[in-house]
Amino acid sequence: MARILIAGAGIGGLSAALSLQASGHSVQVFESVAQIRPLGVGINVMSSAALVLRELGLAKALDETAIRTRCIEYRTRFGHLIQSDPRNVEAGFPAPQYSIHRGALQSLLLRALQERAGEGVVETGRRVSGYRQDADGAALIFADGRIERGDLIIGAEGLRSPLRAQIHPDDGPLNYEGTMMFRGAVEMPVIGDGRTMVIAGDHDCKFVTYPISEQARRKGRALTNWVAEIRHSAPRHIDDADWRRGATMDYITPFRDFRMPDMDIAAILEATDNVTEFPMIDRDPLPFWTDGRVTLLGDAAHPMYPIGANGASQAILDASALAAALAEDPGPGGLKTYEAARLPVTTNVVRANRLGGPEQVLDIAAARVTGPEDRIEDLITKEELEEVAANYRRIAGFDKAGA
Ligand SMILES: Cc1cc2nc3c(=O)[nH]c(=O)nc-3n(C[C@H](O)[C@H](O)[C@H](O)COP(=O)(O)OP(=O)(O)OC[C@H]3O[C@@H](n4cnc5c(N)ncnc54)[C@H](O)[C@@H]3O)c2cc1C
Repeated sequence: MARILIAGAGIGGLSAALSLQASGHSVQVFESVAQIRPLGVGINVMSSAALVLRELGLAKALDETAIRTRCIEYRTRFGHLIQSDPRNVEAGFPAPQYSIHRGALQSLLLRALQERAGEGVVETGRRVSGYRQDADGAALIFADGRIERGDLIIGAEGLRSPLRAQIHPDDGPLNYEGTMMFRGAVEMPVIGDGRTMVIAGDHDCKFVTYPISEQARRKGRALTNWVAEIRHSAPRHIDDADWRRGATMDYITPFRDFRMPDMDIAAILEATDNVTEFPMIDRDPLPFWTDGRVTLLGDAAHPMYPIGANGASQAILDASALAAALAEDPGPGGLKTYEAARLPVTTNVVRANRLGGPEQVLDIAAARVTGPEDRIEDLITKEELEEVAANYRRIAGFDKAGA
């Protein structure tokens, strides 16, 4: 079995550590921040990725923490229901889709890993800057000059991965799509059944909301996560994107004329204290991820627009595929097998998300609807809607039959 060094203790790095530890490898994770704090807001774990975590023994922890999402409702800005896309086991998925606070998911994975591999398995305050390797092994190099040796290295350090930059020195800056995403979470009375994700509006002005806390649900309340997306500039390249940055634009006015039957969007935005902004960015898909004993995983390998609830899910699926490949060949050959399994799939998701993924139904409806009195069923056929949803399920690997 191999000694595997993992850079980054995000959702991808921790899932990889758990999957690899479960198949008998020795793992060590190095995280740049001095202390892992529950940052971010809502995130979704789709059925296929939830199955991976449940098989790692995390079903109870997920059920106690996260909301089992029943369905996604796509709506027009006038509140018409365009499509209801079920996501629960009753609809045929092999595991629930979970909506969860990113920090809660990260803490849950961290706790499980520390229980199984010891407190010292994750070292914080260790900023990775590069690697070197030879026929006998690989070494992670840190910004402070220290070095750690192992057999294999996994770069899971997110959007601005130094390992990715070393493997692909010509990789360009981030692609900014021109849409700024404002995010927050606020505890409030339950909306609807308390298990539904609502996505309303169109590509230029979109509101997404879903509850993320099972603890709040058990109290009869909802920790309501929301994302307000506003397209404000032409696509361009940027260098900088920080999940911690506070809102710098008016994100409420564009939503004042949205009319939902079960919520007042402007009131939800106004009631939220801590709001952050993050640009909708990705990177062009890479031709390869692996250099000998080093490979990439999660956002380091394939950052994508957060459409279709895929960022965390694809990182978890990478982790599972990596462990399966290394169980057959715990060396550079196994890394290549992993890459061959995951690079084409995630490349397709990056490209599908650029076209709007399953949310294309919003733009189809927005182009045809004229006002609240329109009837959606007169404007779009069921077949048209199901084709968009089924196509994306196939691309993202969570088809009911194939998940
Ligand atoms: C602070 C933060 C908040 C986020 N909030 C949200 C959110 O609210 N909603 C959402 O959909 N997505 C959010 N994301 C992104 C989401 O977590 C990822 O898209 C997805 O889970 C894939 O995870 P990942 O592990 O590949 O990358 P990430 O989650 O980005 O994790 C990368 C990890 O590597 C660490 N790291 C970075 N550079 C180095 C280095 N040089 N050496 C060692 N470690 C390094 C980072 O501190 C981080 O812990 C957030 C990411 C971060 C870092």
